[in-house]
Amino acid sequence: MQEVLRALRGIQDLDFELFQVNREYARLPAERDVKREELDRRIHRRDEIDGELKTLQAQIKEIEDHTTMQRQRMRKVEGEAAKSRADAALLAAFQHERQSLRREIGEAEEEGLQFVERADELKARVEALDAEIAEAETVFTEFSGNVDTESAEAGKRLEELNAEREKRLGGSLPPDVLDVYERLLQAREGVALAELDQRVCQGCYMSVPANVFVRLSRAVDLVQCPSCDRILYLPD
Ligand SMILES: [Zn+2]
Repeated sequence: MQEVLRALRGIQDLDFELFQVNREYARLPAERDVKREELDRRIHRRDEIDGELKTLQAQIKEIEDHTTMQRQRMRKVEGEAAKSRADAALLAAFQHERQSLRREIGEAEEEGLQFVERADELKARVEALDAEIAEAETVFTEFSGNVDTESAEAGKRLEELNAEREKRLGGSLPPDVLDVYERLLQAREGVALAELDQRVCQGCYMSVPANVFVRLSRAVDLVQCPSCDRILYLPD
């Protein structure tokens, strides 16, 4: 068992670095995805506001076209009224229509004005968002480039570490021990081994019962810390 522990101690530093590089290797692209999603949400929000603006602009155009027609109608009615001075009933009818048109135009203009104000607001927001998004895209592009560079570096380092690990290990460890060790690497942040110093596990700083110390001293089987599960070894 001493030899097994020695072999494990020989790769633990590599495995700790492997664990960290692996985590970095996974973290960077994930972080980029999150940033991209945030940015896409902003773009979507901008498009929604722009859609609202376009609808409003169409409504304003409709109101303008309608009031233009009503004004033309009013001029026509005024002309007709001038020609019908002799006919009191007809004159009254034209005057009535003229008043209705005037009121409708007034109302439409008021509504139109409110729409124009709202459209100006929306336009300002779209423009502000466009500027924000353009800036964020620049930052994102730079970040994304860094992720590519760092991922490539991490990938290269992983290869080096794995090659070195293979070299040091050389198929010398029993598969069941390696299995326990590797599961602990994942479960314990890349540190699967712990020195037992004065019956205190240096991985979790808990004292172990006397029988654990005895078993470890006998060096017959693999001994794990009862608290943190790490594989224990005695100081040299
Ligand atoms: Zn422990």
